[in-house]
Amino acid sequence: MSQLLHMLTLDMVLPVVVLSLLAAALTFAAISKVKAVGTYLCDDCRFNDIESCHKAERPRAMSCTAYEKTS
Ligand code: SF4
Repeated sequence: MSQLLHMLTLDMVLPVVVLSLLAAALTFAAISKVKAVGTYLCDDCRFNDIESCHKAERPRAMSCTAYEKTS
């Protein structure tokens, strides 16, 4: 096992680390746009009015790529 670790070079490890960080960032971004069961994203979305949002899911969207939290 330790011989294997000595064979790893920065060229081999760096892409794995970068991809892992990218995956974590994408996961966090996706989770931040999904609400828990029983609540709706629209409740605190800045676009939650008939003129700003024409999505069929409004006002009960459970996930939405356009969601932005009201400030
Ligand atoms: S943008 Fe999405 S979360 Fe916001 S009000 Fe419209 S459907 Fe709901």
